[in-house]
Amino acid sequence: MSVYDLPNLACPIYGARLQRSTCTNCNAAYTRRYLKVQRRVTPAVALHSRARQRAARRGLPFDLDVSDVIVPSICPALGVPLVVGEMRSPYSPSLDCIRPALGYVRGNTRVISDQANHLKGVLDIEGLIKRAVASVDQRREDYARLAAYLDRELLLADVRRKAALAGAAGEEWAEVAKFLDAAFVRADWKR
Ligand SMILES: [Zn+2]
Repeated sequence: MSVYDLPNLACPIYGARLQRSTCTNCNAAYTRRYLKVQRRVTPAVALHSRARQRAARRGLPFDLDVSDVIVPSICPALGVPLVVGEMRSPYSPSLDCIRPALGYVRGNTRVISDQANHLKGVLDIEGLIKRAVASVDQRREDYARLAAYLDRELLLADVRRKAALAGAAGEEWAEVAKFLDAAFVRADWKR
């Protein structure tokens, strides 16, 4: 009995006693269940595949590997805990396109909370600050945090661009990029 041997798996021919090696229905039923469990146990796989579908639908570039999708324990934008393996909630992980027009390309994505991604939408820093000014209480704080998050990400993107330069300067910028990237995903980020 493995986690993939769950009830409700059935084939029109063999019922619940799947014969995967000889029956395509059985194999398909097993594969569907397998993928469903994978999505639940490995949120990065689910985020990656949903992002790929979104990118295709919107005609946006996509070049991410699953390994590019890192799910931290704390939302780097709002500082709230990220909750995986549960029903979708404001605390579910969500893949942010830092600059939406660039699409899901390496260096332009970050896993943040669903709530943060929803609030951010396609706003730039100026738009986020305007929202912060126009909002009150928690919402104002959230928009201000999102503006600060986006500011950090754009700084990192700029450092990465410089790191791509040839020579010693490029290597030094690469060190800075590595340091910043690690700092941004640190789980002890305090709100
Ligand atoms: Zn079958």
